[in-house]
Amino acid sequence: MKTQLLFLSILFSITFYAQEHSHKSSGAITYPNVPGYKTLKTDLHQHTVFSDGNVWPTIRVMEALRDNLDVISLTEHLEYQPHSKDIPHPDRNRSFELALQEAKKHDLLIVHGSEITRSAPAGHSNAIFISDANNLMDKDSVKQFAEAKKQGAFVFWNHPAWYPQSPNGNPVLSDFQKDRIKNGELHGIEVINATDYAEESLALALENNLTIMGTSDVHDLIDWDYTEKGHNRPITLVFAKESSETSLKEALFSGRTVAVFNSLLVGKEENLTPLLKACIVVEGATYINNTSILKVTLKNVSSSDLLFENQMPHTFYSSSPVFTVPAEGTKTIQIKTLERLDSVELKLKVLGAYIAPKKHPVLQWQIVVENN
Ligand SMILES: [Zn+2]
Ligand SMILES: [Zn+2]
Repeated sequence: MKTQLLFLSILFSITFYAQEHSHKSSGAITYPNVPGYKTLKTDLHQHTVFSDGNVWPTIRVMEALRDNLDVISLTEHLEYQPHSKDIPHPDRNRSFELALQEAKKHDLLIVHGSEITRSAPAGHSNAIFISDANNLMDKDSVKQFAEAKKQGAFVFWNHPAWYPQSPNGNPVLSDFQKDRIKNGELHGIEVINATDYAEESLALALENNLTIMGTSDVHDLIDWDYTEKGHNRPITLVFAKESSETSLKEALFSGRTVAVFNSLLVGKEENLTPLLKACIVVEGATYINNTSILKVTLKNVSSSDLLFENQMPHTFYSSSPVFTVPAEGTKTIQIKTLERLDSVELKLKVLGAYIAPKKHPVLQWQIVVENN
């Protein structure tokens, strides 16, 4: 009986372990929540062998878990199926179903999506939160967008600056997109796709009130395309009321996002500023001996190196006015306040972050001095 019990408990712990085990890697991506919202780390544009990618959907799930993502979507091309001789693909929902099955054991949300793949001017767009990819197949791209809307999809314009479709590397907002926006059929735009950030796409996002997106558009392995090169994959941070598909969808339609690629962060000011404020924790502010030089330690709790420029009337002692607080690291600055103050307003411009083309956010903190 004892042996049986022991055997049962071992079996239980193996089963338990199998269900709860973690795939997180040492390079797991992390960003803090912001006041009122959960920060969901998403990569909503990826490919597998079910279109022109080179891995099985389960690998995308594993990669997302290693990167500590909260949400992914496998957005197979509807119209481009180069592996179809080897992998006949009559049911276009299959990639999603396989990923969903794999993710069941884990805390990862899989969103059902497809890439509508047309030549310019329609170009490529992802429709996510769809109910049936098969019904999105249509020779007429206008009908495809209407069907996506019917399915309740959030649709974003992919790599609008992609040079095979726009030879000067700048996005062209055609009548096709203008009509889709007018009809409520186009809701977002990639400002970062793979390694390309186009500030012209950011301008279009702001002019047309489109949700700002960043995605990996990965076809091979995340490790090969990004990690091995010293990068994290590009992602979209979504500020959702809860960690659920309903909340994620509401947040995307409401435009509460920041696109991130390593130290580059792009978003509307109302989303980017609270995120950056949450990324930096002021750890201590004390005067050095009996001087009027204030030592302030800044801790960065995010996976982005943050590059700052001093915007205070006070200058720094022993430090450049431009400095980096490394990802998940600290930096101590020394501020010459000229007299010993009880509190100081720290004011820094974030040089790697954009709220509009060529426009950086400026952050402010009221810092209380500890030993005054
Ligand atoms: Zn594409
Ligand atoms: Zn793609």
